[in-house]
Amino acid sequence: MPSTDNVMEKLVSLAKRRGFVFQSSEIYGGLGSVWDYGPLGVELKKNIKERWWRSMVHEREDIEGLDAAILMHPKVWEASGHVAGFTDPLVDCKHCKNRFRADDPRIKGTPGQPDAQCPACGSRGTLTAPRLFNLMFKTFLGPVEEAAAVVYLRPETAQGIYVNYLNVLQSSRQKIPFGIAQIGKAFRNEITPGNFIFRTREFEQMEMQFFVKPGTDQEWFEFWRNQRMQWLVGLGVRAEKLRWHQHTPDELAHYAKEAYDIQYEFPFGWQEFEGIHNRTDFDLSRHQEYSGKKLDYLDPATNERFVPYVVETSAGADRTALVVMLDAYSEEEVGGEKRVVLRFHPALAPLKAAVFPLVNKDGMPELARRLYDDLRRHYNVFYDDGGSIGRRYRRQDEAGTPFGITIDGQSTADGTVTVRDRDTLGQERVAADRLVSYLEGKLQG
Ligand SMILES: [Zn+2]
Repeated sequence: MPSTDNVMEKLVSLAKRRGFVFQSSEIYGGLGSVWDYGPLGVELKKNIKERWWRSMVHEREDIEGLDAAILMHPKVWEASGHVAGFTDPLVDCKHCKNRFRADDPRIKGTPGQPDAQCPACGSRGTLTAPRLFNLMFKTFLGPVEEAAAVVYLRPETAQGIYVNYLNVLQSSRQKIPFGIAQIGKAFRNEITPGNFIFRTREFEQMEMQFFVKPGTDQEWFEFWRNQRMQWLVGLGVRAEKLRWHQHTPDELAHYAKEAYDIQYEFPFGWQEFEGIHNRTDFDLSRHQEYSGKKLDYLDPATNERFVPYVVETSAGADRTALVVMLDAYSEEEVGGEKRVVLRFHPALAPLKAAVFPLVNKDGMPELARRLYDDLRRHYNVFYDDGGSIGRRYRRQDEAGTPFGITIDGQSTADGTVTVRDRDTLGQERVAADRLVSYLEGKLQG
């Protein structure tokens, strides 16, 4: 295994070189903690999201999908507690104009007092007393920039689900218990962002809110904890790199009764990338109160009325992509040469196969092209005829492509090709016309 301190650096560099992730607006010097997904990255993230959607929505009869808008009525964020509570205490340096979290361990002394020292410029007595700063991005709806027109970019997707809970319940004819799943962008004006795509100001969430009868919430909470861990292990993430972290009373969000994070051992330490939360009836009750609309449920079996409890599973798509990339990253020696390989689960790999004519003559390119055209009607496949075959293999190892298909002299004679396995480096001869079904079997799971 490579040493941990520079794995992030290597991954960031590979991500840029191979087109997984680029810094936003790079030609202008970049935009702080905002990242763009390149050709391979967008495929990887899409595969993660599709797998999540399949397991949460398509494979379950008790969960429905939703795609709510990013902009919502500003009252939503008053009801949710984000206007009042979604804040960090911050201090400013009057000298260098830098801004820090009040609990930044680099600050010496007490902010607001003469003894406090700025961690950036070293000045003493220049730090202001802590002030609350809201993490929501604010903008204006319509042409007039006035207080009445303020709207926010949503800081979580969950609220779009809560305000649509009755719409979905009634239109889908679901009964409680049931869930609503959504994948979408959320925005937080983080003060201490960083670690590549781990903490970003614009990010994508994969959230599912499961509505249950009060009293059954604990049972469902355990159920969903189990399901989510199984799903992650099914992505090929090494189990020993995953662990649970239970929120202490200090860590619990204002809406939560109980919460567990799933943590991954990142090169920068154990950190959360998914959470399972028992949000009780907090959100629906608050929306009932703020909107004046009844959001309770009439149980047709018992004729009982209640406001459902909510068990939430909330995952970051970007953090999951980072986990998948880090977990797949491997350096090894092959025949005295170093190779870097991303051992993606085949279902997540951006490219499923690459097609290589051994040389650009003797009918090989024509056959390779035909095969490539056929394969890409089924999978995302890459064609590469540049450089030595060893070089071409290495490039695909770095992209995490599970299979390399080489068309050689024998191929034009008997219609077989070699299929090289990214992980075992084993090669097999397969009839070209059987290739689609051969890959189908290998890419399952
Ligand atoms: Zn300063």
